[in-house]
Amino acid sequence: MVTRTPRVGSKYSLPDLDPKNSGVDVMVGLEIHQQLASQSKLFCECNNKGAEHPTLTFMRRLRPALSELGVYDPAALFEATKMKSIRYHSHPSTSCLVEADEEPPHSVDRESLQTALILAMALHSKVVDEIHVMRKIVIDGSNTTGFQRTMLIATGGYLELEGNRKVGVQGVCLEEDAARLLSDDNITREYALDRLGTPLVEIALEPVSGTPQEVLQVAVTLGRLLRASKRVERGIGTIRQDINISVNEGSVVEIKGIQQLDQLIKVIEFETARQRGLIQIAAELSQRRISHPSEHNEDEIHEFIVENMTDILRRSSSKAVTRILDREDTQFVAIKAEGFDGILGYEPYVGVRLGRQLAEIVRFYGLGGIFHSDELPNYGITESEVAAIKERLNLINGRDAFILIGGDRDRVQFAADAIIQRMNQATRGVVPETRAATLDGKTIFIRPRPGSSRMYPETDVLPIKIDDLILESLKGSVPKSFDSYIQDLMQRYELNQKLALEIFDSDRLKLFEDIIKNTKVQPTFVASKITEDLTSLRRKGLNTDRLSDQTIKIVFQLLDKGDLAKESIPIILETMLMKDLDDVKQAIQILGLEQISEIEVNEIIDKIITDNMALIKEKGRDSLGTLMGRSMSLLRGRIDGKKVSSILKSKLEQGLS
Ligand SMILES: [Zn+2]
Repeated sequence: MVTRTPRVGSKYSLPDLDPKNSGVDVMVGLEIHQQLASQSKLFCECNNKGAEHPTLTFMRRLRPALSELGVYDPAALFEATKMKSIRYHSHPSTSCLVEADEEPPHSVDRESLQTALILAMALHSKVVDEIHVMRKIVIDGSNTTGFQRTMLIATGGYLELEGNRKVGVQGVCLEEDAARLLSDDNITREYALDRLGTPLVEIALEPVSGTPQEVLQVAVTLGRLLRASKRVERGIGTIRQDINISVNEGSVVEIKGIQQLDQLIKVIEFETARQRGLIQIAAELSQRRISHPSEHNEDEIHEFIVENMTDILRRSSSKAVTRILDREDTQFVAIKAEGFDGILGYEPYVGVRLGRQLAEIVRFYGLGGIFHSDELPNYGITESEVAAIKERLNLINGRDAFILIGGDRDRVQFAADAIIQRMNQATRGVVPETRAATLDGKTIFIRPRPGSSRMYPETDVLPIKIDDLILESLKGSVPKSFDSYIQDLMQRYELNQKLALEIFDSDRLKLFEDIIKNTKVQPTFVASKITEDLTSLRRKGLNTDRLSDQTIKIVFQLLDKGDLAKESIPIILETMLMKDLDDVKQAIQILGLEQISEIEVNEIIDKIITDNMALIKEKGRDSLGTLMGRSMSLLRGRIDGKKVSSILKSKLEQGLS
C-alpha cells in the first residue's frame, strides 16, 4: 500500500482538460489492482485457474493482537469489535498449505516480479534497489494469515495521456490477492481460497481534478497500457479500481471495489453529491452554533444523552419494533441530539441525508437501521410513543432531535457509541472513511479510514536486490505505447482503426489472434464478430461472458472447414446463450443449420420461383428483393447468402427471358 498525501499539489494536473471546468473542486486519486496472468501464485506454485468445487473446509477465529493493530488504527479496532468465525473452502487444485497458513510462503514468483518491474518501467517509475516483502494487517478474515503480503516495487513516474498530458504515479506495488468472499452473516463469514495469493499489481496515481469523464479517461489509458503488456488477466473481476475522493479540500474518502468503468463515473458523481451535501449539512449545523467539538475531548459527548426506551415501546403496534423486542436480550434506546431538529431528514442533494449516513453505520453492527424524530410518527410508531420518548429525553421541540435504535443488547450499545461519534463529526462535514462502491454506482459505508500503522516486515521471505542488469534484461518487454500497439494491429491484420481499438479493448484479443493463426477466416470478419456482434447480444440482455473462448473458436473452425455459413454465426451464439447450451454442434442441430447441398438449394429456389410467378410477371427484375428475402428465410445460415443471390439472379433472368 502506498502512503498517500492526497492534497499536496500534484506535479501533473489536468486543469487544462476542459476550460469550462476551471475551479473544479473534486480531487480523485485512482488506485488500480490488476491480476497478473502469471502461471503461479505469488508465494506458491498453485494457480487459480481450476474451477473445482471446494473439497476441504476449515474454521478460524481471527483474534488480532492489539500491539499488531497499533493504537492509532481505528479501522482495525472497529473490525475487532465484530469478531466472527471464519470458514474457508479450498481445493487442492487451486490451493496448498501456503494458502492455509500451515506452511511458510515460498520465494516470490519470478514471472510476477518481472511483470511488476516491466509495468513500473512502462510508467517511468523509479524501481527500488531492494524489494522487501511486508505484511499489511487485514482482520476481516480475507487472508488466513491475518495479513496481506505486499512489496513496494517503484515510486514516482507518470502515465502519459493523449495530447502530451501526464498524470503522476505515486507508486507501484506487487501484492497477493485476498480470498474470495462467499457469504457473510452475523455469526460466520465464508471465503474460498482459490483467489488467495494470486499476484496483483497495485498502481496508485496522484490525485487529479477534472470531470468524471476525464477521470475515466485516465483509468482507460492506464488499463490499456497494462493490457498492452500482455501479462495481465482480462475479464470481469480481474481489475478493481479504488478511488480516493475529496471535494473542496475536505476529508478524503476511500471507495473500494469499482469493477466496471461505467460504474466509475456514477460513483464519482454520487460521491461528489454526497460530500457536497454533508458540507451543507455541516454549514447548517454551524449556523445553529453547535460548538465544534475538539477531536480529543471526550467530554463533548455529553450533548448526546442515551436513554433506554424498551418499556415505552414494549406494546407498540409497530411490526418493525415488535419483531425486535419479541427476541430475547434485545432493547431499544434513544439518543438525544441537541440542536439537530430537522437536520437528520434535511436532504440538500437527492438521497443525501445525515439520517441515512447513520443508518449505514448501524448496519455495520448488524442492526436493520434507525428511526429518527424527523420522520416520526411513522412505521407504526405512534404520536403518543414519540411524545413519551421526547419527555424522557427532556427534548425541546423545534430544537432537538432523537435517534431510535433497537436490536441485540450489546450491538445496540456499540451502535449507539458509533452514532454519537458520527454526530460529533457532523459539524466537520465529510468524515474520512472507507466506503464500498455498489453495482448501481452508489457508495456505502464499510469502516473508518484505516491509519497508516499497519505494515511490518515479512520475515519468511528474503529481500530481493534489483540491479541495472535485471532492469536492462527486461527493457525489451516494456509495452509499447497504446497508439503504436493499435497501429501495429491495423497493419498486421488489415483492420480499420475502429475495429483495432474495439478488439484491443475487448477481453478477446488473445482469442482473435489465435483464430487468425489457426484458420483462413478474414481478420476483419473475425474482429467484427467478436466485438460488434457480441456487443449487440449484450444489448439484448444476454450474458456473453458465458461464451467461452473455446466455444467461439470452434464456431470459426467450423466456418473455416465450410461446415457453417457466415450468416449463421450470430444466430448460433445467440441460441447458445438463450438456451444455455455449451455444445456448438447441438445449437446447429436445434437451428437446423446443417449445411445444405447445392442441388437442394437449387430445388428450394426453383420452388420459390414457381410459387411467386404472379409477382415476377408483375414486377419483373424488381421482384428480386422479395424473392431473396423469401429464399433467405429458408436458407439463412445454411449456405452463403452471396451464393443464394447469384443462383436466384440467374434463375430469374432465365425465367424472364
Ligand atoms: Zn498454494
